[in-house]
Amino acid sequence: MTTRINLSALNKHELAGFCEELGLKRYRSDQLFQWIHHKHAGSFDEMTNLPKSLRGQLAEKAELKSATQATVSRSRDGTIKCLFRLHDDKLVEAVLIPEFFEDGVADRLTVCVSSQVGCVFGCSFCATGRMGLFRNLTTGEITGQVMSINTIAEAEYGKRITNIVYMGMGEPFHNYGPVVDSAEILSDPLGLDLSPRRITISTVGLTRQIHEYADQKRPWNLAISLHAADDEKRNKIMPINEKLDLSALRKSIQHYHKMMHQPVTYEYLLFDQFNDTPEDARKLARIAHWVPSKVNIIMYNSVDGVTLQRAKEDRLDHFMSELTRQGARATVRRSRGDDIDAGCGQLAIREQDGTGKTMAK
Ligand code: SF4
Repeated sequence: MTTRINLSALNKHELAGFCEELGLKRYRSDQLFQWIHHKHAGSFDEMTNLPKSLRGQLAEKAELKSATQATVSRSRDGTIKCLFRLHDDKLVEAVLIPEFFEDGVADRLTVCVSSQVGCVFGCSFCATGRMGLFRNLTTGEITGQVMSINTIAEAEYGKRITNIVYMGMGEPFHNYGPVVDSAEILSDPLGLDLSPRRITISTVGLTRQIHEYADQKRPWNLAISLHAADDEKRNKIMPINEKLDLSALRKSIQHYHKMMHQPVTYEYLLFDQFNDTPEDARKLARIAHWVPSKVNIIMYNSVDGVTLQRAKEDRLDHFMSELTRQGARATVRRSRGDDIDAGCGQLAIREQDGTGKTMAK
């Protein structure tokens, strides 16, 4: 039996190569690209502007394996979480986070997208990390989540999504190729046509990939999941820091800035009595000055079995005053959708069988 090629997993260039091998004209490749990544077609039969004979030929040689929306949960704050089923019955989640103008009309509509089923890095505060890693997502499984949520955004809020953050399940730079391919598709005029400045890819600090991202001059924003401002504390909650510590991170970020002249964003979950002292704020401010940056201080939503808790409001106030006194550009972000477990660090598939690979001890 010949194996059929999964066209959703190809980037634009690879798809063009596939069409060329079939002897198709260039515009056919663009049509296919739009059907797969813009219209999120589930079968070749849906591709009505392709001749029937070509649809038959494609069905013989190729297949489409994307993410199929399974369930939708709605938070009282307007956040919407979608569960997606993949072709092998694995599950992932993505979240639509709306922000509203004062009159209640939707302003920003951000999609938080997953890049892996589970995650190997085992950060102690993160529900996804507790699952372990099952597998990487393909390019089409990533774009499929975004396009499905875009349809929901249009139906619920009357406009398309405005921003994408790769901060759902998984470590995006641990699945580098499909992640950058998907971001390319989502910024492509035939894809979602989103400005690269509206797409942010986050990493726990995989330094080799940060160098590669900089050397390839990738145009999307870079965010670092920092969550602690010295090696001792970071080692306690993020096992990756024992291999790639803050000095390695600093070198890679400075390289990124040298190549791209773009600021970076640091994500910092504020945990009660752990990383929320004025001394932590001073250390964080020093990191914030490595290169031009902004810091998002995120209020944590509790995760079952995790002892770390959200910082108290008065400690947050002192922390923010110290941080800004030290000249860091910082904003507080309230985690959203906590009543449907859609907040930062809360995404996980509880019904997944077994445990995946993990570096957590
Ligand atoms: S925070 Fe990110 S890198 Fe860490 S375990 Fe969770 S998904 Fe993985």
